[in-house]
Amino acid sequence: MHLCQKCRERLSYHGEADAETHGVCDLCGGLLEHIEDYFNMFREEALQYEFSTFLIGVKARNDSIQKDIETIAKAGGKIRNYKEEFQFQLGSMIEERLHYRADFRKPELTFTVDQENMGFDVWVRPIYVKGRYLKKRRGIPQSPWIKPGRGKEAEKSVSEYIGQQVCDSFGGRNYNFFASGREDVDALMLGTGRPFYVEVKFPRRRETDFPSLGARVLSTSGGGVEVIDLSLANQTEVEEMKVQKPDKTYEVGLVIEGGEVATIAEKLEERKGIKISQRTPNRVLGIRKDKIRERTIRSIEIKSFEGNNLVLVIRAEAGTYIKEFVTGDNGRTVPNLRDELDVNVKIEYLNVLEVKQGI
Ligand SMILES: [Zn+2]
Repeated sequence: MHLCQKCRERLSYHGEADAETHGVCDLCGGLLEHIEDYFNMFREEALQYEFSTFLIGVKARNDSIQKDIETIAKAGGKIRNYKEEFQFQLGSMIEERLHYRADFRKPELTFTVDQENMGFDVWVRPIYVKGRYLKKRRGIPQSPWIKPGRGKEAEKSVSEYIGQQVCDSFGGRNYNFFASGREDVDALMLGTGRPFYVEVKFPRRRETDFPSLGARVLSTSGGGVEVIDLSLANQTEVEEMKVQKPDKTYEVGLVIEGGEVATIAEKLEERKGIKISQRTPNRVLGIRKDKIRERTIRSIEIKSFEGNNLVLVIRAEAGTYIKEFVTGDNGRTVPNLRDELDVNVKIEYLNVLEVKQGI
């Protein structure tokens, strides 16, 4: 067995190791003799990222590490195996000379050396930014919109307006955008906004100036998308947002034909807790499976009425198709407002006013 000087010292080896100084160490494969080189590679990589904690990882060769563990067992002492020795020595060197802090639980940067090819890999913990967005112009889809044969729509999406700016401000490589539900492309998102988060991958920076980030989202979207309450989020908060099913409050502008708005208003007064049954709407049948879903309309209030115009504020359970509750979608949603009121209703506009968990 050929051992490098470092492994000999580590194992206090006096046995059968040959005296050759050439060749690769049968245990660490040369890792321990090249710690200074890996330190330099780490320092070079570290220049690219802002971080304070790190972890050294080693992908050891199975046969080598087994042999090492067996040799240690024979020696019978408390000796670190070469993987632990490498982590310990490189880690200490980085802490002492570069003043980063080793963190075994949630390191911001992980530097992993692969014994197989002696190369290394850097992983940077993603940054999560949470906030709420308002959509102030109709026609902006929430996510990039691809129509068969037409390619991407000209109008950028909410996720791109927000995600790209957040990603850039942290110097990220790419990003993921997640929002708590979505509004229709022609609906506004107003009031207190819709919760979202952005995951920024391989961020070069871990802090940013949130007010100016918000200002950039607003200006690049031409005033169409506004973000509020921006802050860093941890992974737990992000996971929670994924499973929440918040209620939504909508403002619906209607034109009524064939009935007295005043009488209708009377009929609608104090309506609460209407159970409805919705088949997948006609307009999304091509992209969603046809099924029946039960949902609850929590409340309906009249905001205003004048002439043929009626403005309602409707609060509904997550996942309710609100347009179809109003129009009935040719009997696919029952009960529905059109049937209940026995008039023709036309939707003038739809705005989302609030997205709120646990009402
Ligand atoms: Zn060695």
